[in-house]
Amino acid sequence: MELLVQDYLDGYLLPSQQQDLEEHLAGCPACREELVRLQRLEERLEWSPPVEVPSDLAVRVAARLPEGRYMPGWLVGAIRGAAVGLSLLSLVVLVVLIISQPGGGGRGRQVELTFYAPNATSVMVAGDFNDWNPQRHAMRRTGDGSWNLTLNLPPGLYQYNFLIDHRYWAERPGEGALVSDGFGGRNALLFIEG
Ligand SMILES: [Zn+2]
Repeated sequence: MELLVQDYLDGYLLPSQQQDLEEHLAGCPACREELVRLQRLEERLEWSPPVEVPSDLAVRVAARLPEGRYMPGWLVGAIRGAAVGLSLLSLVVLVVLIISQPGGGGRGRQVELTFYAPNATSVMVAGDFNDWNPQRHAMRRTGDGSWNLTLNLPPGLYQYNFLIDHRYWAERPGEGALVSDGFGGRNALLFIEG
């Protein structure tokens, strides 16, 4: 009944449901009380100041998602939006760093990408950081069946995947959060803090 009363206030009920509820309210003091309580709550919410959320909140949440967690498309869109805000902020921080520390700063961070593919003859990485052009970043084979590449990237949120033997994209490109690539595959997320 509480849910119905809330829907009633929000105007989500069908005319027949609304009529049923109004009939019930006429004979039920408890539900009438609930209606008044919700109305007051709504008034108070309307008058409360808007809550400020840090621009990088979505990015930080995404970076802490448990392994293999799938993200819906709308969340990825929200994160992309937040990442734009973050990179603008990072740009300001970067400029301040360059001014205050001549000779230092502004070079981004070193990130080591590793992918286990002992039977591959080549592995390349493509992502937001190289316009999804795998030719730019070939990985190096290590002794234990892994492939390795060190990148230098400015702070931000990146998606990437590994191209195996010039033909196959990795099904599980990362240990952390994965996002749908929109074509039935999944990309890894890489978050570099500013
Ligand atoms: Zn009732």
